[in-house]
Parts: sequence; C-alpha cells; structure tokens
Amino acid sequence: MSRITVFDYPPGAHQRRHGPSGYADYASYRDWLRDDFCFRCVFCLRREQWDRRLAAFHIDHFIPQHADPSKGLEYGNLLYVCASCNSVKGELAVPNPCDVNYGECLQIRDDGSIEALNPIGRSVVGLLALDDPDATRYRKLILDTLRVLRTGDDQRVYEEWIRFPSDLPDLSRKQAPAGNSRPQGIADSWFARRVRGELPRFILINKRIGTINADRAGLAFRNQVEMHEGRRGSSGGMAGRHPRSVRRRLIAPAPANDRTIRSDGRSEQLFHPRHGGRALCAG
Ligand SMILES: [Zn+2]
Repeated sequence: MSRITVFDYPPGAHQRRHGPSGYADYASYRDWLRDDFCFRCVFCLRREQWDRRLAAFHIDHFIPQHADPSKGLEYGNLLYVCASCNSVKGELAVPNPCDVNYGECLQIRDDGSIEALNPIGRSVVGLLALDDPDATRYRKLILDTLRVLRTGDDQRVYEEWIRFPSDLPDLSRKQAPAGNSRPQGIADSWFARRVRGELPRFILINKRIGTINADRAGLAFRNQVEMHEGRRGSSGGMAGRHPRSVRRRLIAPAPANDRTIRSDGRSEQLFHPRHGGRALCAG
C-alpha cells in the first residue's frame, strides 16, 4: 500500500496564480489565499479540513506590517498559514515558501518526525519549531488516523479528511478593487476546475516530481493520481472510482514532454521541468 502523502511538501517554490489588489483590508484577500495555497498552511501543510477554519487559519504578512506598512495590503506579501505557525513565526525571517523549494528542504517521515535536508530546511525547522514534540505528535496522529481510515471499511471518513473543502470560493465573482494582475489564474482556481468537472477528488502532493526526469515524473504522478483519485471527468466524485487494476488502464502511456493525457483524452500540463517542477496540488 502506498504511503500517506498529506505531509509531502510540493516539489517547487509556491507560484501564485492569483494577483488581486486594492482591497481596503487584508482579510478580504482570504478566499484568494485559500485557493492559491490549496486550503493548507504553506509552512506545515495542516489543512482546513482538519480544523475549525477561522480559528485555525490566519493570514500572515511575510514582511511584517510595521516593518513595511506599504506591504500591509499587498497580495504578494500575504501567506495562508495556520494559527500555530503564525504565532511561532511572528516577525522571524523564515525562508519564503514562494521563493524557496520547501520540498528540497524538508521531509516528514511516516512516524510524523521531520527531517531537514539542507541548511535552509534546518532554518525553517528551527524558526517554526516544526520539530516540536507537539507538532510531531499532531502529524503522527493525522498520519496514523489516515492509515487506519484508508484500510478500514469506512472509506467515506478517510476521504473526508483528504478532500477539498465544500465551499470552494468562486473567485470569478470577486471584484478586487484595484484589479487582478493574474486574471488567467481564475480559470485555474479550484472552483473553476470543479465547474469543468476537473477537480481532483483529493488534495495530493507528489514530492520530488521535479527532481526526476519528465517521463518518470509523469508516470509517478499519474500512478499516484489514479490510485487516489480514480477516473476524473464527466462523472466525477464517488461515481468516478474504479478498482485500481481498471483505473490503471484508463491512463495513457507517458508522453515525452511535460503534459500528460488524462483519462478523458485531454492533455494536461503537470509541471515545468525548466523550473525544477511546479508546486502541484493533484492537478
Ligand atoms: Zn502551519
């Protein structure tokens, strides 16, 4: 059985797909940030689905407001983080996950412990106390629970823990007062994907996809997607599930470039090898 991957860091620095501006208060950027950061804390990968959202998730000013008031309402300075990471980070200069590939720096073991893979990783772990016994216990609890749920009879509860939130924000209806510098990101939002019937069933990350060659990466990614996701497409949801042996046949052979063929025959860009892999959320 494949391992639980909810604590695998994305294989690249986070690349923002939205660029709203002009709101009078930073809280108004929340839905943009939720979508951009895939409903998880960018630092520790804790998910909305695992908590009461408003209490558990904050908006962090990467550069503190008092240090540079001009960045207080700048979308590119805002991160979606959990309350724990936000309180620990404070005004510390943590390596920016939008500049640094956390996937190359950090690895969560199956027992919930964290390993720093390089000096930047050691800095992140130290500054955010990600090796704190309570943080390790929390990750272990999540991983153990998911393992039990996955192998148990109640598949529904397991899926509840790794699925997307139900209230995906429809960003196309939001009017950022001063516009949106990345309007193309709207079509790539999770809500838009759901409308098109392309929302993955679960939020998954395939670590290190960018560090192996394109064909192998594409194959590994599709294997993981098919295992967890079943067939995407018009049916969607639970109706799209197939036994693993059947699902495997739904996936086309690996293409030579960085696009893969979905089960419905359309191609889909997975990552940019040039950039060492793009942060992916199972889509
Ligand atoms: Zn966190």
